[in-house]
Amino acid sequence: MSALSIQQLRKTYGAGVEALKGVDLRVEPGEFFALLGPNGAGKSTLIGILTGLVNKTSGTVRVFDQDLDVSPERVKAQLGVMTQEFNFNIFENCWNTVVFQAGYHGIESREAAHRTEKLLRDLELWDKRKQPIRNLSGGMKRRLMLARAMVHDPPLLILDEPTAGLDIELRRSLWDYLKKRNEDGLTIILTTHYLEEAEALCRRVAIIDQGLILRDAPTRDLLGTLKRQTFILELQEQCALPDSDERLQFRVVDALTLEVDVDHQLTMNDLFHRLDQTHIKVQSLRTKANRLEELFIDMVGKKGKGLS
Ligand code: ADP
Repeated sequence: MSALSIQQLRKTYGAGVEALKGVDLRVEPGEFFALLGPNGAGKSTLIGILTGLVNKTSGTVRVFDQDLDVSPERVKAQLGVMTQEFNFNIFENCWNTVVFQAGYHGIESREAAHRTEKLLRDLELWDKRKQPIRNLSGGMKRRLMLARAMVHDPPLLILDEPTAGLDIELRRSLWDYLKKRNEDGLTIILTTHYLEEAEALCRRVAIIDQGLILRDAPTRDLLGTLKRQTFILELQEQCALPDSDERLQFRVVDALTLEVDVDHQLTMNDLFHRLDQTHIKVQSLRTKANRLEELFIDMVGKKGKGLS
């Protein structure tokens, strides 16, 4: 039994926009899965269908074997969803927000209080439990959204751009928390256009563009298909540009900086051998772009709008 099984999912909006053009997707229990794509690819539409906010045009959706058309309430009970937009009553406090959500799922009050305390402590919101939401920072609000999405202990957690707008430190602490929950067995699906996020968290990535899944593969396999990587070389002293060929392509950035595209079949030793031959002294080297971003460019021949 899959955690999520989607077949030939289509959505055409009123104005005739085909947001999903026949999506097939399967996510197994325990996976940490990323749906990656540029703005307008159809990610939010897909999540909207799962959560009942968007009506699909055709196709089937099953969550732990419950069919969305047959048992929408059972599907809802299996899902925890964190949307992009904050949809709280900002005058309510944190504690009540989570406890009321538990009540909405029919959890009795003692158990609701127990779960709420655990979630607020784990997500470092315990000190803020009596604070109205409007007093919370953006990062705290996002963590509260997560607590509210998980209070009914759903086996499948869906996160739409979970770390959008968070600074690096908060992003990493949220990643750590999600990784732990996944290790405990929670199935997690996230949408992102932070490629770094998909690379750091997810064992499998599906790439969606213009309503179609272009690739669906283990992250490691996808990265293995990269045709090239780009590095930035900081030089010790100014020098002439080395000759380029098919496998190593050099460009000048400024007097002390070069960029080089390295074919995936070459090793770093090959690169340094060439640099040695041309007497170039490199002070430091770093990768230019995220590898998944380069992969996306390889696949669709362009930089995705949201992929920068
Ligand atoms: P993503 O979440 O990947 O950015 P969306 O699912 O929001 O993509 O959008 C997919 C396509 O559907 C886009 O072309 C978008 O403009 C269109 N779209 C989204 N919501 C609506 C709507 N309510 N009405 C009409 N078109 C929409």
